[in-house]
Order: sequence, then C-alpha cells, then structure tokens
Amino acid sequence: MNIKELEKFLTEKNEPSFRFKQICQAIFKDGIISFSEISTVSKNLRSQLNKKFKILPFKGSKVLISKEKNAIKALLKLEDDSLIETVLLSPQEGHWSACISSQVGCPLGCLFCATGKGGFKRDLTADEITSQVLFWRQYLKTNKLTGQFSNIVYMGMGEPFLNWDNVKESLNILIDEKFFDFGRRNIVVSTVGIVEVMEKFAQDFPQVNLALSLHFANDTKRELYMPINKKYGLNDLKNFLQNYFKTNTRKVFIEYILLKDINDSQEDVLKLANFLKSIGKMQLIHVNLIRYNSIGGELNASSKETAQKFKEALKTERVHCTIRKNMGNDIQGACGQLAGKNK
Ligand code: SF4
Repeated sequence: MNIKELEKFLTEKNEPSFRFKQICQAIFKDGIISFSEISTVSKNLRSQLNKKFKILPFKGSKVLISKEKNAIKALLKLEDDSLIETVLLSPQEGHWSACISSQVGCPLGCLFCATGKGGFKRDLTADEITSQVLFWRQYLKTNKLTGQFSNIVYMGMGEPFLNWDNVKESLNILIDEKFFDFGRRNIVVSTVGIVEVMEKFAQDFPQVNLALSLHFANDTKRELYMPINKKYGLNDLKNFLQNYFKTNTRKVFIEYILLKDINDSQEDVLKLANFLKSIGKMQLIHVNLIRYNSIGGELNASSKETAQKFKEALKTERVHCTIRKNMGNDIQGACGQLAGKNK
C-alpha cells in the first residue's frame, strides 16, 4: 500500500485527519482485501479508493504449503513482472513469523544460495517490502488461520543492507503504531556483513535484532563461498561487533549453514569458537546452526549426526547455540529456489 499517496489523496479531498488513521487501521491491522470492507467510511469514498489504489502491489501470487503446514511459501509477481518470494512460518503452534525479501535477486553471489545464483535485478521499494507482510496478514485472515502474527525476519531474497534507504523506510512502517505496530524486538534483519550500513542500522534501530550470516570462521573459505568477504573480512566483522556491544546489550544471532565436508569439522568448531571468543561478550552471541537446504549443485547438507556433534562441541566451548528447525523443505525451501524455477 502506498501510504504517502493515500495520505495525499485524503488531504486533497479535505477528509478529516482521523480518516487516514481509520483507513490505515483497516488495511494494516484488520487485513482488509478491498476498501469496500471499511464500513466506517462513506460509500462514495470507498468507491474512489477502490478505483485509485491497490492495497497490494502484486499482479499475482502462487502459494505452496508444506506437508506439516508450518511453512507457507508465496511467489509474488510485481508490477514489472519480477518475482519475489516470501515465507510464513509457524515455528511453534499459535505463532506466525514472516520471512521477507528486500531485493529482486541479489548481486552478492554466495555460492550456496539460489538467489545469488539467479543474479540481481533491482531493489524493492519500501511498499513492496512491507506489502509482503500485508500479504500474509490478509492470507491469515482469509484462510482463518489463528494465532499471533508477531515476528518479521529480513532473510528472504537479497541483502537488506544493500538497499538501506528502502529497508529503513520499511522498518519505520513496520514499527509505526499507525500502521503495522510490530515490536522492534520482534524484528530481525539479517546481513552478510555490510559494515558501514550495519553501523547506521545499529544507530537508527538499536532495539531491532541483528543476524550476521557468518557461515565460515576462516577468511580463505569465506572468500571462496561468499565473495563479499573480500571487502568485509572477519576482522571487520569482529571490530563492528566489538563496537556494537559497547552500546547495545541485545543479542546478536550468528547464522551458520552447515555444509558437508566444507565447514562442519571439529576444526571448524574451534575456528568458530575462537573467532567468537575474540569478540568478547559471549553471553550476547547466539549461534543458529542451519542444516543446508540443497539447491541442486555440488554442495550438500551435513548429516543430522554431524550437526548434532557440531552443536555439542560448540557448547563445550561455551558458545550458546541451537540447531534451527528445518521447515518447508518440501516447498522449495531454499531462498530464491521457487523464483528461480518460475522465471
Ligand atoms: S546468501 Fe544473501 S547475500 Fe548471499 S547471495 Fe544469497 S541473498 Fe545474497
């Protein structure tokens, strides 16, 4: 929903200022699909709004539901025919969390990532980013799915910190009580480590959670699988985190995809533990171990046993960590896979 245009339109029509709030409540909190549903505004205004605005900026959508019904993936077609993905997850009954995209494709080309393989097309606007959340709000309502929809993660297609202006605007819309009213602490932004923008983020949104997609605690390997490491290496990430923890006591999540025979050995455990210890503030670091969701290339997921051993060894090193529950593997679970297939 283009909020600025809506506000401008209502001002031009000399509508009282509460009208904007009333309409926003209906769109963002009640999840209406058509302006005709807003019974508190005149029939005439409803019809004008229906003619002038689209609540969602999508031309079409395709939804896939996992067997366990705890992951729902949507492929959304934008006005310029670009395709993006967004996922609704229910990690525990009664709770919903949306994973949203920030770019169409991604220019960073991490070797394990389906989005990176597909290349980069363009940045998403703030409206296109927040509309993914609106899409899920409407979906939950239409499909009568109950539970609390309270969490947002920026872990879909794209690198959020390469699209900072729009991501910043989208965060402001998501936390604004007039619009979505999500709690800052219920939002996570995930990055591969664009240090200058991480600094801006830390300053502007100290309460929003940060996740760092580390995946390798060794510069040579990280550079090989994540070319961005040539620009922002482990030392830059360490310096950033040390500064971050000087003023912020929020936990930082370290994302670590376990790739068979590549970064899942006991030596890798020690490298990771030593890197994290060198940052300090171990109580503020939590490692999420993720079993790789294969995208059909040469890279494979570590076995369940290896993942378990990796976790135990990290714990012995006094690193807080958990293995993330895999959800939605049967619905092209890896980010960018569905969009790539449907291009
Ligand atoms: S992992 Fe993230 S940063 Fe890397 S290519 Fe994929 S979307 Fe881009």
